[in-house]
Amino acid sequence: MAEAVSTQEAQVYKYNLTGEEEKKEILRQYRLLLKTLRPKLKRGDKELVREAFEMAVEAHKTMRRKSGEPYILHPLAVAQICVEEIGLGVRSTICGLLHDTVEDTDLSLEDVEREFGNEIARIVDGLTKISNVIDANSSQQAENFKKILLTLTDDPRVILIKLADRLHNMRTLDFMKREKQLKIASETVWVYAPLAHRMGLYNIKTELEDLSMKYMEPEHYKEIARKLAETKRERTRYINEFIKPIKDKLVKGEFNFEIYGRPKSIHSIWNKIKKKAVAFEEVYDLFAIRIILDSPPEKEKEDCWKVYSIITDEYTPSPERLRDWLSNPKANGYEALHTTVMGPQGRWVEVQIRTRRMNEIAEKGLAAHFKYKEGSNDEDRFDKWFGQIREMITTQDTDGVDFLQDFKTSFLAEEIYVYTPKGDVKMLPTGSTALDFAFAIHTAIGSKCIGAKVNHKLVPIGHKLRSGDQVEIISSSKQKPNEDWLNQVVTAKAKSKIKDALKEEKRKIADEGKYVVQRRLEGLGTKMNQHNIDELVSFYKVQSQLDLFYNIAKKIIDLKELKDFSVSGDKLEAPKPVKPVENKTEPAEHRINKKDSELIIFGESSDRIMYSLAKCCNPIPGDDVFGFVSTGKGLVIHRTGCPNAAQLLANYGHRVVKTKWAKNKEISFLTGLKIIGMDDVGVINKITNIISGDLRINISALSIESTEGLFQGIIKVFVHDKEELDELVDKLKQLNGLHSVERFDTE
Ligand code: MN
Repeated sequence: MAEAVSTQEAQVYKYNLTGEEEKKEILRQYRLLLKTLRPKLKRGDKELVREAFEMAVEAHKTMRRKSGEPYILHPLAVAQICVEEIGLGVRSTICGLLHDTVEDTDLSLEDVEREFGNEIARIVDGLTKISNVIDANSSQQAENFKKILLTLTDDPRVILIKLADRLHNMRTLDFMKREKQLKIASETVWVYAPLAHRMGLYNIKTELEDLSMKYMEPEHYKEIARKLAETKRERTRYINEFIKPIKDKLVKGEFNFEIYGRPKSIHSIWNKIKKKAVAFEEVYDLFAIRIILDSPPEKEKEDCWKVYSIITDEYTPSPERLRDWLSNPKANGYEALHTTVMGPQGRWVEVQIRTRRMNEIAEKGLAAHFKYKEGSNDEDRFDKWFGQIREMITTQDTDGVDFLQDFKTSFLAEEIYVYTPKGDVKMLPTGSTALDFAFAIHTAIGSKCIGAKVNHKLVPIGHKLRSGDQVEIISSSKQKPNEDWLNQVVTAKAKSKIKDALKEEKRKIADEGKYVVQRRLEGLGTKMNQHNIDELVSFYKVQSQLDLFYNIAKKIIDLKELKDFSVSGDKLEAPKPVKPVENKTEPAEHRINKKDSELIIFGESSDRIMYSLAKCCNPIPGDDVFGFVSTGKGLVIHRTGCPNAAQLLANYGHRVVKTKWAKNKEISFLTGLKIIGMDDVGVINKITNIISGDLRINISALSIESTEGLFQGIIKVFVHDKEELDELVDKLKQLNGLHSVERFDTE
């Protein structure tokens, strides 16, 4: 990625090393890289790496990163991640060192090819194309993304090195401007983290997510990190208590093993807090216990189950929470046995059991997978996946954003396994329906599908499948796809096949409309030509001539205005519209003018900008926000922590406007609080007293529901800004009997 600045500009950043010290630091990093790479070096490799290093040093010699440090430290760090954290070898190291040269320096691809050969040049070329993704607009972005995926299917190392590059950029994101941080962080959480997950790079995925959250939701990130640190001592004590008896038994059983507790990531804890609407203190699985066994290949499975039995002799397992990825590994190659058991003090604890080999695959994913490929019975797991991606890219011509969305749901989601009546297994993304399954078997079966039998029970085509289901498709020769089917599938394959069929159907109908137009034009003494068709398309405000003909055939357009057209020779001319159609103003929108401006929108004249507040996250002044230019709605203000933010920022970065609140107390904003407490009449009274009495805040709605001594309530209030809301939340939290007070985003 191009983030170098000129030497002059760099001087304003703090980076206080002298030229000599810099050289030492660069050499230190280089030696570390060689040391990590040592076990993989064959004859002549060291010289090649040295040559790549020198080539990169020379190419980047005048460049500095935004932090002010010499640019070469970035490719060195990327190469280091490739070797140390992903487990890649010599060739990838060389590519890591050279990955930014062709993009940012005078070095050409031919230079790289001449020195290092075709294989390395191809990978560097792949990495070069990818870097254009960052600043391009959305359709270009998707085009580039398609390119990434094509190169990925050619040589997976491209995407692994790209992930290393992204990881290092995320680790050093502090020096970027705020809006760039937001953009890069959301792109990371939207595309790169799921991609890392899919590649089986669990550690890298987790770190990417945590780093993204650090920039997108700094407050929550810091709070959870602080609470994790505060509770560490207690947690360690608990983990030791839990582990002790297990450890003794494993030693007695003569296992070679490692056992430890590891904290869950901040991002995953935060997801749990949001999803379950609980406080940090109530998230029970802040950590998991991991047992890693040294087992010979033929005893792996047996040993894992032996250990499972030892654990469940000691602690009672939860029957719903056994995950057997030994017999059915995940599509990203993950193998392990997970169980959740009741530990001391009645706490649920997750235990993960795996062998050393499985652990390496879990951490280094694809790279480790290739290492162990020989002798494994699922060696085509990735190949199959790449094949599906290739098919989607080459057959589908949806526009950019749809493509990304389809790609995500089809290829980056967790997968389920379903069975044909004959017992063949099919892998589908989570959320897939019977109809997806039908299309996965064959297009002809999908198009004729009228329902299915799932585990011998009749279900409609939109029925969501679950892992382990056995599915038999029921079809009829009279059936054909309709619009609604698009809402009943998630896989890219099914979507594109349905769209093809719909287009074909539409074309047939449109042919009738075309005939009608031709006759009418001839009736007017003119004829069917491109000019006249275009004139009609623009007069009736339809998207294309196909739509025009289709709407005429469907009698949505009746052509009665045709009599007002003027005709000269073979040219038709539409009558001028009398007056322009006025747009209705949406009630939620405000017109900003000098007097009541509470938003400062940078880079625009903020005088008369139409904006509205996003309904998905209801921002109020004081929230960390960004503006998003949305077609038809003008500028929409979202909170950076909005559930939709990542998608918007990642896909439409160019439509994001930096937005900030200005001080103003005249306008108030509707926001919601969710409260939970003990059922007590007095409490409700106290709550309303605080809100409308003490703080003089207007209540818009209040609803309370109580069950068995507990109540849950929703309060909607009008506040001026975040400060006022925070004050309200603080006051409410001090009330006896109130258990939790949380702001909620959605209506
Ligand atoms: Mn880079």
